[in-house]
Amino acid sequence: MPEDHDANPAIRLLGTGASIDELHLAAEGCTACELYREATQVVFGSGSTRAPLMLVGEQPGDVEDREGEPFVGPAGAVLDEALAGAGITTDDVYVTNVVKHFRWEPKGNRRLHKTPATRHVRACLPWLEAELASVVPKVIVCLGAVAAQALLGRSFRVTKQRGEAIDWEGRTVVATIHPSAVLRAREPEERDRLRAALIEDLSIAARLAAD
Ligand code: SF4
Repeated sequence: MPEDHDANPAIRLLGTGASIDELHLAAEGCTACELYREATQVVFGSGSTRAPLMLVGEQPGDVEDREGEPFVGPAGAVLDEALAGAGITTDDVYVTNVVKHFRWEPKGNRRLHKTPATRHVRACLPWLEAELASVVPKVIVCLGAVAAQALLGRSFRVTKQRGEAIDWEGRTVVATIHPSAVLRAREPEERDRLRAALIEDLSIAARLAAD
């Protein structure tokens, strides 16, 4: 079946007041890009549906794909620690990804993460728009470059602009590193530096949400 970006069911649900549960159910039937073919299941957003903070990552990973929940793998453990470090509780957050199906490539018997292409991000964005319309967060936190550039444009650089409060379509966006960057760091010092940066940026977002 050819992919048809106009076929994203989120487009017809926008403006209908659909709940997160209704959106999740509809996303299970999404075929707006080819990623649904090789993924186990859609991984929709999860958390408090009235959260002041919406955290937006890139795409589900291997563990998330199998379990059907966002940020439950190793990067999720880093994120949970950083949230606790920033004094943010689970009631404060709704967590999702820009792309809702796992893109991967085989290596031996492993499934290796493959960064989603621009066409996947574009095809999937209506789901994020629908989540934003339903949750109405005060502050959006983009975790990593894919999420930040999806919202703020291709010229956005997380390394230079992380932690800044940015006005985006009437909402406040703060971009920070993806928690997986902490896991990829080779040296303990670098790992500590990145972990501290993540906590610092989440703390900024939490303060903005509380204002
Ligand atoms: S990645 Fe997004 S747009 Fe593509 S099939 Fe999955 S839910 Fe639909």
